Amino acid sequence: MRIECVRTHWLRAPLSQRLGFSQCFIDAREVLWVEIITSDGTSGWGECYGPAAVCQAAVDSLYAPRLVGENPLAHERLWHRLWRETLDFARGGILMAAISGLDIALWDLKGKLLGLPVSELLGGRQSDSVAGYATGMYFRDLPEDALIEVLVEEAIGYYENGFGALKIKIGKNWAFDSRLIVAMREALPEAMLMADANHAYELSEAVGTAKLLEQCRYVWFEEPLSPEYEWQFRQLSERTDIPLAAGECEQTRHGFRRLLSPGGVQIAQPDLAYCGGITEGLKIRALASSHGVNVVPHCWGTLWNLAAASHFVASGFWEPGRLESPAPLLEVDRSPNPLRDELFAAGVEIDGSRVKVPTASGLGVVADEQAMMDFRVNRTEVR
Ligand code: MG
Repeated sequence: MRIECVRTHWLRAPLSQRLGFSQCFIDAREVLWVEIITSDGTSGWGECYGPAAVCQAAVDSLYAPRLVGENPLAHERLWHRLWRETLDFARGGILMAAISGLDIALWDLKGKLLGLPVSELLGGRQSDSVAGYATGMYFRDLPEDALIEVLVEEAIGYYENGFGALKIKIGKNWAFDSRLIVAMREALPEAMLMADANHAYELSEAVGTAKLLEQCRYVWFEEPLSPEYEWQFRQLSERTDIPLAAGECEQTRHGFRRLLSPGGVQIAQPDLAYCGGITEGLKIRALASSHGVNVVPHCWGTLWNLAAASHFVASGFWEPGRLESPAPLLEVDRSPNPLRDELFAAGVEIDGSRVKVPTASGLGVVADEQAMMDFRVNRTEVR
């Protein structure tokens, strides 16, 4: 058994309405899927989180030639080969996103070849479904009064559909953020609310926002500060009781060591399609555990990533653990994304806020290759 071919699928879907967060607006969803095919014709699939064109060039020119001819079951050895042979210029960034997608595909492939779901390869599921929280409430091109109204309506919609936990976007400006934080709490007095600033604030601004989030009973404050100033998380944590979450911009166990060592971050958020894949995600989880930090993966893509995260979360545990421990959470992006909703013949089942962990072999989801044609920008193949 050998890897015969690596294919990439660059897919793009324009959005009917621009979506924004504290750093920019986007007018399309885009992704690079990778497909690793073995000599017996089995395909493993993964996705990369990052600019698809760059990920595609990285897979085609750097990584695929190093995988072709190799044993598809040797995911750990292959990860280290890709890492070590490109280390001088690819310790992180978009090149690590390319490795991540390929690693997810190798886990999907391994599950399919062995006839086991990825959650069993990871040591077994704690439960057959995991608790999802809804991510949405992105900014729109609207005056702020109207925007707050639209965002509150959106959140109420998710809540009424069964999501008891919801994450909003903040980091626009102090006046707007304050009004939105309060309006959400007033509209949803019983909901579990989180707020994500996408590293928008200076330390002093973050302290003020943290105090308001505390008063409004939010359960975590995500990316309040720049990922470049790891020590500021400890400074902020000393002035607030709200748990701080961060890590979606971070990669590898080495990056997470830098983020977690100073203290302050209480929830680590590696994205499996960016942090180094499932193989590196397990190492990040072990590192986080040794710091007493829980992991809630960042997940903002299509169903390869959501399925991978569901297997990962289901096989994890919540620190420090007790008989009636809180359930590990899974991020479920609800913002518009045709690449997530229209390209799978078998998807991830969501019942209320419970996400069923797929039980078919591998990741357990299946691409609709016919539907992919409508969104294709470019397809490549290395053999
Ligand atoms: Mg975030």
